[in-house]
Amino acid sequence: RSVAHRHIAGLLPIDDRPLDVGEARRLGRPHVVALIGPTGVGKTTTIAKLAAACRFRDDLKVGLVTTDSFRMAAVDQLKSYAEILSVPLEVVIDVEDMAPALRRLAHCDVILLDTAGRSRRDSERLEDLRAFLRAADPDETHLVLSTTTGERTMMRDADAFASLGADRVVLTKLDEAGGFGIVLNVIQRLGARISFVTTGQEVPDDIEHGGAERIARMLLAGLGPEAAAPPSTPDHGRELV
Ligand code: GDP
Repeated sequence: RSVAHRHIAGLLPIDDRPLDVGEARRLGRPHVVALIGPTGVGKTTTIAKLAAACRFRDDLKVGLVTTDSFRMAAVDQLKSYAEILSVPLEVVIDVEDMAPALRRLAHCDVILLDTAGRSRRDSERLEDLRAFLRAADPDETHLVLSTTTGERTMMRDADAFASLGADRVVLTKLDEAGGFGIVLNVIQRLGARISFVTTGQEVPDDIEHGGAERIARMLLAGLGPEAAAPPSTPDHGRELV
């Protein structure tokens, strides 16, 4: 079993340095990180977790941008997080508003960009999202996928959103997923690295970075994170906050 864990861990490409603001800092500009993906996978919740980690763990100046102006509830949700964390939020409705919004956040170290969870079937909406991303020109684009999604849907989502230049994957809802075997297929299909995994609804606690062996154990166990690893394991996932 441990040989299998190691083998699967070796197949999992992990992003070693997500949210690395070093280069942008040298250039005197914010590091822009976009989260894209279907509706309901946990993008906004993950943005809040990441914003808290950047602000309180890394002591970075954080700015939030959302293009998800279609769903007022989504904007309100992000507004509440922005207020709690005391970070500025820009709501971008038209593509041409993106550049001025980013300029207003030019004093930030990191800008986290929440995008509307366009329906993968709606190619026009994907094109809108592409235009927003082009205007924001993010340093990192993370495709957020829920591990509770079935294989065919996940593959379709992966294909639809891969064309938008996602170079990293955030896997959400590992606490609710029944099995993770399909994750391997999707990751390989995308050729992207895993940046974060999320393990619950609690902001800011339920997010971890990497830990290939821990994720491998989850894949094999096909159960939630409690079943995945004894806490003494050296490769235990690193909590962010
Ligand atoms: P979005 O539409 O992609 O922005 O998704 P939201 O952030 O609004 O999240 C949709 C739902 O998923 C909310 O009820 C969140 O609380 C829930 N959620 C987000 N992340 C996790 C997670 O890691 N585990 C579980 N169980 N639920 C989550």
